[in-house]
Amino acid sequence: MRIGFGSDIHRLEEGSRLILGGIHIESDIGTVGHSDGDALLHAVTDAILGALALGDIGTHFPPSDNRWKDAESSLFLRHATDQMRASGFEIGNVDAVVSLERPKLLPFVKDIRENLAGLLNTGTGNVSVKAKTGEGLGAVGECRAIKAQACVLLKEASSQRR
Ligand code: MG
Repeated sequence: MRIGFGSDIHRLEEGSRLILGGIHIESDIGTVGHSDGDALLHAVTDAILGALALGDIGTHFPPSDNRWKDAESSLFLRHATDQMRASGFEIGNVDAVVSLERPKLLPFVKDIRENLAGLLNTGTGNVSVKAKTGEGLGAVGECRAIKAQACVLLKEASSQRR
């Protein structure tokens, strides 16, 4: 088994889109980023790459490269899961925390978990997404940032087991 951790933060601005776990969230504030700014998918991608000791999302998709401008973050995650499979692993489980002051994420958590599970080719029961606020403190609490953190456990792929 391998364990990985990923963390990401994006600036929030009025009038930008808010995409989380590949799901569009109805919101008056959204992320500013080179890609679609999906902090959760970036954190999960980094966690998988970390579990494989293969660097991070910036190593594989440099922000200086205009090919990734406005790119869908599922593309980054697919790259990481391709590397995972090539190394003989599959998802054991994922546990993620999204810190955002508003809007409330609870109504979206089920859709986010299901979409993320689909992208990871695993069951929804293996994907936990927890929504927190910043209690009015710091960049998250002042609605200036969204933060996502994720832990993943990779296990030997069933096809590899004897
Ligand atoms: Mg990011």
